[in-house]
Amino acid sequence: MAKINILDSSIFNLISAGEVVENPSSVVKELLENSIDSGASEISIAIEDGGIKSISVVDNGCGIECEEIEKTVLPHATSKISSAKDLLTIGTLGFRGEALASIAMVSEFCIKSKFIENDKAYAMEVVGGKSSDIVATNLLQGTSITVKNLFFNTPVRYKFLKSASGELALITNLVKNFIFSNPDISFKYSVDSKIILQTNGDGLENGIYSVFEPSIANNLIPIEYDNHNYKITGYIGKPASNAIVNNRNKQIFVINGRVISDNELSCVVQNAYGEYLMKRTFPIFILDILLPFDMVDVNVHPNKKEVRFANKKAVNGVIYNAVKQSLNKNYVSMQNELKESLFTIKPSNESDNLDEKQFVNNENAANQNQNNKINTDIKQEEFKINNQIVENWGKNDIDTLPITNIKFSNGITNFADSNLNDKIFVEKSIEKQINKVIYKIIGQLFDTYILIECNDRLLIVDQHATHERIIFDKLIKESEGNIDMQQLLFPYSVNLENDELAGIEKQLDNINKLGFQMEILGNKLTLNAIPYMLIDMDISEFVRDVVAEIKEINLISSLPQVRIKLAKMSCKKAIKGGDKLNSDQLDYVVNYFFNNNNIALQCPHGRPTVIFVSRTEIEKMFRRIV
Ligand code: ADP
Ligand code: MG
Repeated sequence: MAKINILDSSIFNLISAGEVVENPSSVVKELLENSIDSGASEISIAIEDGGIKSISVVDNGCGIECEEIEKTVLPHATSKISSAKDLLTIGTLGFRGEALASIAMVSEFCIKSKFIENDKAYAMEVVGGKSSDIVATNLLQGTSITVKNLFFNTPVRYKFLKSASGELALITNLVKNFIFSNPDISFKYSVDSKIILQTNGDGLENGIYSVFEPSIANNLIPIEYDNHNYKITGYIGKPASNAIVNNRNKQIFVINGRVISDNELSCVVQNAYGEYLMKRTFPIFILDILLPFDMVDVNVHPNKKEVRFANKKAVNGVIYNAVKQSLNKNYVSMQNELKESLFTIKPSNESDNLDEKQFVNNENAANQNQNNKINTDIKQEEFKINNQIVENWGKNDIDTLPITNIKFSNGITNFADSNLNDKIFVEKSIEKQINKVIYKIIGQLFDTYILIECNDRLLIVDQHATHERIIFDKLIKESEGNIDMQQLLFPYSVNLENDELAGIEKQLDNINKLGFQMEILGNKLTLNAIPYMLIDMDISEFVRDVVAEIKEINLISSLPQVRIKLAKMSCKKAIKGGDKLNSDQLDYVVNYFFNNNNIALQCPHGRPTVIFVSRTEIEKMFRRIV
């Protein structure tokens, strides 16, 4: 055995420096944290050669007193805590007091600072841990730190650096995170003398616009949630938009001012999106979470990239609710906007004359109309016109009634011939307002989309996505016990493993509430009946799916999520893209679209059901307007 040596402090310091200073971006991180802790409102960062040649961070913070400057590079020198007790209430980003010491150990380091209460500024240089004298220097305010030739004295570390562009990518990402976590600070970030990012420090929204391209920034929806202990603000990706992507790179959690990564929290957000998200897609988000300092331990990870929560379950729950709430709110407001634009037409002069009168000039419809007695108390009634169920919107905010439907079930319509005079005006006597809705089914496109003209818009409806929605909604809404069932002529049975049976058994109630009739006898699972609307479903495939899904369900959740999962599986059997639809099928899909109080914008798997093209957009394409 060799003898045990006590390491010389200079070697020891070099080794431990390597633990704090991993790469240029970790230097930038430490310097930025110090600037923020100093109360700076403006910080500029300049990088050369991926930070390997030079990193400089300049702030307008409180600065450092002359006598303190030399202490900054001593190991465990910190002004932020003095006792273990302080660790419980730590509010600053730094507190270990090892960053500057470590950085100065492995670089050519220069610090200049002007303490806020002094007239003069002072500077010190440290090369490989050896400090120069303190000298007077020129600096108007704050602190300026420059780190050159990182790892010049630790060749092994140097060798493990990525290419300059690789290191730069890490730094740029980091700076973006700082912009998100400190939206009230103005940042200027330049690379090789070129300004790359600049913010005014006037809030998160503007910060987001300086970092993300408009196609993303325009598609983020605000989130706001406050329950006493936890406060959540920020922005999350709008479903079915450019702010939903195929990786998790732009998912940012800011916990008490610190950007952290946390896979579990990411999953919570993912779950909260639920049916708003397509498979293998991920929302972009910036979630700023404030919680009492004693509820979170930031001291877990040396780089403080991870934190530990005193009550993780509570945090998960709060985030889940906050995200869900904001998504639902957004969905409802999108629906309302849509309803308004589709179903509100200002009465024209011509129709003004008809005010307070019920006017019908379509005989067929008129008859039906009479049969159904349209009058002032149509509030919650359903009535049929041209064999279509028309529901009153029954909502105070929408005064319109979708009544007139001009449809051409034989496919493509000749506009000139189309009987646009088929009008039904219905008075809603309370508001004394006449409204009408006219839509026209133009036909099927590529056997996949249904084209509809409505209120100066072209609607392109995805037949599959919409039909999925119909089935899903029916299963979920009507699953309180009145789904029409169809007994199977030949009940389907399959033998299962014990663990599979146990899983199914737990969910049997949930499954049967959705209009299935499933039972377990010994090792045998038998399906006796299915919802009527799924009459030609592939039963063996369904059972196989249920067995597979239940395993997953038991892992993640219980409660309503189970029903949603099952309903999602069932609606797989919706009409497909590529199916030629007959006129009844077209009507069925379109009617649902127009007569449902909550127009479905997305299918249960997160795909859009409809796309709108405005007349203006089309006219622009044809250069009718510029
Ligand atoms: P820590 O941040 O953990 O306290 P550091 O090694 O990062 O340790 O910094 C040591 C000390 O130097 C800080 O506690 C602070 O007092 C001072 N300091 C460092 N950078 C700045 C700055 N930009 N402005 C003001 N003070 C600073
Ligand atoms: Mg620090």
